[in-house]
Amino acid sequence: MPKPNPRHPNYPIPGGPELRAKGWRQEGLLRLLENVLSVGEDPDNLVVYAALGKAARNWASHRAIVKALTGMDEDQTLLIQSGKPVGLLKTHAKAPLVIMANCNIVGQWAKAEVFYELQRKGLICWGGLTAGAWQYIGSQGVIQGTYEIFMRIAEKRFGGSLAGRFILTAGLGGMGGAQPLAGRMAGAAILCVDIDPERAAKRRAAGYLEQVAPDLDTALAMIDEAVKDKRATSIGLVGNAAEVYPEIARRGIVPDIVTDQTSAHDLVYGYVPKGMSLDQVKGLRDDGQGQLMAASRASIVEHVSAMLEFQKRGAEVFDNGNLIRTQAREGGIANAFDIPIFTEAYLRPLFARAIGPFRWMALSGEESDIARIDDLVLEMFPDNRIVTNWIRLARENIPFEGLPARIAWLGHGERTALALAVNKLVAAGELKGPIAFSRDHLDAGAMAHPNIMTERMKDGSDAIADWPLLDAMLLSSSMADLVVVHSGGGGYAGYMTSCGVTLIADGTPAAAERLEHALTNDTALGVIRYADAGYEESFEEIEAKGIGYVPV
Ligand code: NAD
Repeated sequence: MPKPNPRHPNYPIPGGPELRAKGWRQEGLLRLLENVLSVGEDPDNLVVYAALGKAARNWASHRAIVKALTGMDEDQTLLIQSGKPVGLLKTHAKAPLVIMANCNIVGQWAKAEVFYELQRKGLICWGGLTAGAWQYIGSQGVIQGTYEIFMRIAEKRFGGSLAGRFILTAGLGGMGGAQPLAGRMAGAAILCVDIDPERAAKRRAAGYLEQVAPDLDTALAMIDEAVKDKRATSIGLVGNAAEVYPEIARRGIVPDIVTDQTSAHDLVYGYVPKGMSLDQVKGLRDDGQGQLMAASRASIVEHVSAMLEFQKRGAEVFDNGNLIRTQAREGGIANAFDIPIFTEAYLRPLFARAIGPFRWMALSGEESDIARIDDLVLEMFPDNRIVTNWIRLARENIPFEGLPARIAWLGHGERTALALAVNKLVAAGELKGPIAFSRDHLDAGAMAHPNIMTERMKDGSDAIADWPLLDAMLLSSSMADLVVVHSGGGGYAGYMTSCGVTLIADGTPAAAERLEHALTNDTALGVIRYADAGYEESFEEIEAKGIGYVPV
């Protein structure tokens, strides 16, 4: 039985033992599609997160996808082109059930304006990373990544602890909404600015944000008090970051850590320029795109100038993956890239070992399934400090949204071992239903994104998109249930290509075979990608785990 969804009453949370499709593989993917809408930002418009990241092209496409998933046999493959189903073909039972290519535009044409035009004509839609691939699990999806970044900074700059430290950030949207909880879990006092009071209210209702301050003076006083008491807290403030950041700098206050997760990547549908109301911005999205782009860019210039000022005065400042430096540089801030990107600054040694954001969702809808797997992770990886610390923190602090889910950064061999052990639990009837496994597209072999994931690679291979394409072909040959290739849409057009994968552990030997091949090969490719770029950690991993790298 689906469960009521207080946030979006028309989009119940899937669950229960009854199948509507011909098998759990199809049913599982159908439930994941339903889930991304139930936890999404604007499901009526099929928008899941990041302003334009959609689950399907339009409602007719959505209905056709549901019909196909419900009626298809195991030896068929559904083809999806930018959120629209275009074919249901006979393959074989070990082939993927769904393959997708979303928003891939030929190089010279891959520009925001071309994307908007194609979107207006109904020819394309952007899948974000996990939206169009039906893998989004709510703000939890990025929370460990954000937490690990804060902890790496704590180790690098603050003696291992963020107690008594002030983090300033902005953006409380689908992904940015993870920041207040990640900051509080890391022990800091975090201030999160968002222009939209509804987003702040949503994060507060979901338990991700503790309080919303009525104005900047109060917000800063609350932060000051928490810093003095070394008390972890998260405070929201409704305002425009392009005004609030410069004002904090003008007052001579220097936060310890500064970042931003507004939708700065999209100057039309994402970022809200200073001095404009949300309604004014909405009114200009169709007919005033040029005006809106210029106004957004001008605001981002002020926003990033304040971030650079904080950096000059000693704050740890980083780009949290929203293209804000790129937009600022195009607006004339020549030194915008003095701000480092989080991947290169803090996480690359993990990615070089293919350790990245792995996730699992309880298709039964039962939280007890996730609790059982939490215990299993603690039993299986007692010496993995990152993951044991995370699971203990997560089970105490992270409220579930939609299908109960968990994310944990695991690497080569670990993901496969966990998934196979979970498949056995499903087979033994120890869980209430099958478990779906996926990972973020921001994963070692899965993403080419020269201003985020692959910035300043050791060998200069930042912009080469062969890796995610190889990953997708490898995953299709390795029996994954869903395989997808995404490229950037909106403001990300021309900036990235990524690959996603989902597998359903339904307890059968066939599922075990699929999990073993697909998960092992996915992370093997991740290690190989970094070895090819010359990272020492990758060679150690190849040696230790016997990965089939071909040296040339
Ligand atoms: P979203 O569109 O759901 O939310 C963006 C938020 O920014 C909204 O709440 C909006 O009101 C707010 N905002 C816009 N302009 C503002 C301004 N000038 N001042 C204050 N608030 C403003 O997007 P999201 O899913 O939260 O993603 C945010 C950004 O992070 C995107 O660019 C996305 O691509 C990026 N992202 C990065 C990672 C990563 O791994 N680091 C992961 C996911 C998303």
